[in-house]
Amino acid sequence: MKAYLTIDDSPTQQTDVLADYLSERGLQGQFFCRGDRLAQDLEPAVRAVEKGMVLGNHNYSHTPAGALSYDDVIAEIEDTEKLIDAAYHKAGRLRPGKYFRFPYLDKGDGDRLEQRFGAIIEEAAAGRTLDLPGNEKVRRLQDYLKVQGFTQPYKDITHPLFKNPAIGGGADCMLTYTTGDWMLTARHKGKWDYKTREDLKARIDDDPWLCYEGGAQIVLVHDDPEIGLDVLALLDYMLDKGFTFLSV
Ligand SMILES: [Zn+2]
Repeated sequence: MKAYLTIDDSPTQQTDVLADYLSERGLQGQFFCRGDRLAQDLEPAVRAVEKGMVLGNHNYSHTPAGALSYDDVIAEIEDTEKLIDAAYHKAGRLRPGKYFRFPYLDKGDGDRLEQRFGAIIEEAAAGRTLDLPGNEKVRRLQDYLKVQGFTQPYKDITHPLFKNPAIGGGADCMLTYTTGDWMLTARHKGKWDYKTREDLKARIDDDPWLCYEGGAQIVLVHDDPEIGLDVLALLDYMLDKGFTFLSV
């Protein structure tokens, strides 16, 4: 079983732990970084690059793009790009490509796809056209990203979600499976269907695509010290099940 491991909201005090975990096993993660956190401390991102990890852009302030003007989204992307370039420069490595993920998967119209991710997968799997009308800002942002050379680097994604042009054809990085690790943060714990680490492991077993389909998956975990041990336990669990994490 193959998956790309994407890690959002880096860098934090957990970044080194995650990068070490992966590099010790000869695996790569793609770390989507917030500009504000890179500005605070670039070094964990530099070390991650030195360990073979890949940095992506997760905008500067983590404000959903639907709540920012077009110009402000672009300014945030560009400010974050400068910091990512600086991290690669400092690590003495070339960037393999430019990758961007919208916070909350809000492509600019205020529709936070991350919050209804299970529902849109069900729609896609049932062969229905996804209700993703977008708007002018969404289209302009996609055009901007494409012109700037941002791509989704994933190969062999056969998940039904990616058959939708707005998902598979987008210049921003989407995913096919979210671990729901954030449900274990103090802010969310107990309020959702999955309340424990064991619940999230069972969810991995139960996902109709993750463990049963051919092709590669794109998995999301978060770089968050508060749930650091939970994330490592979920990664252990996936590797024990026979997953490997692919490089871009
Ligand atoms: Zn995020």
